[in-house]
Amino acid sequence: MKVDRAIRRATEAHHSGTHVLNAALKKTLGDHIKQSGSLVNPERLRFDFTHFSRIDEAEMDRLKSLPIKLSVKTRRSKLASYPGRGHENGSRSGF
Ligand SMILES: [Zn+2]
Repeated sequence: MKVDRAIRRATEAHHSGTHVLNAALKKTLGDHIKQSGSLVNPERLRFDFTHFSRIDEAEMDRLKSLPIKLSVKTRRSKLASYPGRGHENGSRSGF
């Protein structure tokens, strides 16, 4: 079924997005960043995390540009190496 495949691909893209976002947050804000939840579906992703202070404007600017760079790098060389097709324990080693 074509629709099922499109839905699955969209969900997978958002799932990969959580890994990219997790890596971007750690790189920008520090290794203490911890994922506290996420919602992934074909329409969107939500990523909840813990951090000790409000994200300032400079950090936000860096965060917004970093996932694009990381996702390009990931697509080129790293995505296939995620343990269990990119599940949580692979999110750090994936980058
Ligand atoms: Zn995952």
